[in-house]
Amino acid sequence: MAKGQGAPAAARSATEWDVVIAGGGNAALCAAITAAEAGCKVIILEGAPKPYRGGNSRHTRNFRCMHEGPLSVLTDAYLEDEYFNDLLLVTKGKTDERLARMVIRSSQECLPWMQAHGVHFQPSLSGTLSLSRTNAFFLGGGKALVNAYYNAAEDLGVTVVYEAQVRHVHLQGDRFTHMEVSVAGGPVERIAGRAAVLASGGFQSDIEWLTRAWGPAAANFLIRGTPYNRGVVLKDMIDQGCDTVGDPTQCHAVAIDGRAPKYDGGICTRLDCVPFSVVVNRDGDRFYNEGEDTWPKRYAIWGRLVAAQPEQVGYAIIDAKSIDLFMPSVFPAIKADSIEELGRQLGLDGGKLARTVADFNAAARPGRFHPTELDGLATEGLDPPKTNWARPIDTPPFYGYQLRPGVTFTYLGLKVSDTAQVQTQAGPLRNVWAAGEMMAGSILGQGYLAGFGMTIGTVFGRIAGREAAAHVA
Ligand SMILES: Cc1cc2nc3c(=O)[nH]c(=O)nc-3n(C[C@H](O)[C@H](O)[C@H](O)COP(=O)(O)OP(=O)(O)OC[C@H]3O[C@@H](n4cnc5c(N)ncnc54)[C@H](O)[C@@H]3O)c2cc1C
Repeated sequence: MAKGQGAPAAARSATEWDVVIAGGGNAALCAAITAAEAGCKVIILEGAPKPYRGGNSRHTRNFRCMHEGPLSVLTDAYLEDEYFNDLLLVTKGKTDERLARMVIRSSQECLPWMQAHGVHFQPSLSGTLSLSRTNAFFLGGGKALVNAYYNAAEDLGVTVVYEAQVRHVHLQGDRFTHMEVSVAGGPVERIAGRAAVLASGGFQSDIEWLTRAWGPAAANFLIRGTPYNRGVVLKDMIDQGCDTVGDPTQCHAVAIDGRAPKYDGGICTRLDCVPFSVVVNRDGDRFYNEGEDTWPKRYAIWGRLVAAQPEQVGYAIIDAKSIDLFMPSVFPAIKADSIEELGRQLGLDGGKLARTVADFNAAARPGRFHPTELDGLATEGLDPPKTNWARPIDTPPFYGYQLRPGVTFTYLGLKVSDTAQVQTQAGPLRNVWAAGEMMAGSILGQGYLAGFGMTIGTVFGRIAGREAAAHVA
């Protein structure tokens, strides 16, 4: 049988595995490699087909890493307190300091571990968030990272089953006994094991669940990542009395190109043009200060802002002066020689759009424009104001992008200890650990710190693998 294609159904059901892992993204793979290196017989149950393996991890580009001096591609130093303060700023204090500091401290030893398991790094990309000191970029992106880890896992003898949808994690009292799995839509199989690692992500791809949490508007949201993270295991564990963390009604959403596919558009559909734009809703009205702060600090609020507009849609309008100032979306902008014509091409009332832009232009004041600094170039007498980068939109051709909310991840997760052990009101489950998005809500209760998702998954994945291996030893 080809490497990594899994064992025949009868053999995998008859085997008692040391460690059964639900999910096949970064956290699952870090756990699998660690447990296999400790000598365990490990099986990965990946819900996606092989070409789509690796969950949201395959869309990533970098991970955030503490370092006391230059480390691999990372420049200078990035120390624990600065890292933690960066986290406090975005989470507004919604974090578990003990767990957060543990993740931050451990991140330093992750980088060489990742390299030893086939991940290559490259210096930070320019033209986007400036992260050369804090974030190590994966050469070939998350897809290359995931492929390297699958190779490493398979070389260690880990069995991988694709299209393996875990439906239920069976507990007997405080112990895991087996998972119920349907492979490629087949009948339910029991995969028994001595320990379980749960690493199957959040629930953002279950639109019905999102709609329950967010209201009907969620039906119009686009999901930036894998369609396979539907929260089946998460819900199953919550139904069985596991403690949760993170706000169930919240998700991280950014403004993305409205032409992105419903799922899996990934990073190339993100739009960074808002600070240089006039942004209007379907009715041609502005609704928020496009220049409130630098884009890295504001890009995460625009998903929500657009979500609150009629039909959950917005339109960013720029002119020829700004078209090269941001990383473009994979789709070319809609282009026209007049604002009115641009409005018509975007499906808006062209006359109304032209009036909105004319009002904006009349409120713009002369001054120094600086695209990467808060330049204070603000409108006067306009509501809402634009408080930076408020240059008139007056130089043809004019360009427009439709914006829609793109969900990155949900915050609801399982509560774990600092050894990744899953908690219930009656105490910890003896042989169940969780890693990655599944438990990240403890550390990232709100907002997002670029690159921290992969750090949490790497640190907790390795801990879960180590603890599961120690349990079965
Ligand atoms: C477009 C995009 C870009 C991002 N960029 C970055 C970045 O650059 N840096 C960063 O740190 N973070 C980034 N993130 C966040 C990051 O992707 C996550 O924090 C991280 O990948 C979570 O890893 P994970 O292993 O927990 O989940 P995932 O990688 O999503 O893996 C979950 C796995 O579980 C499987 N699964 C789900 N349900 C089941 C089931 N019932 N049975 C079996 N398997 C199941 C899925 O198929 C998948 O393999 C990005 C997210 C997106 C969407």
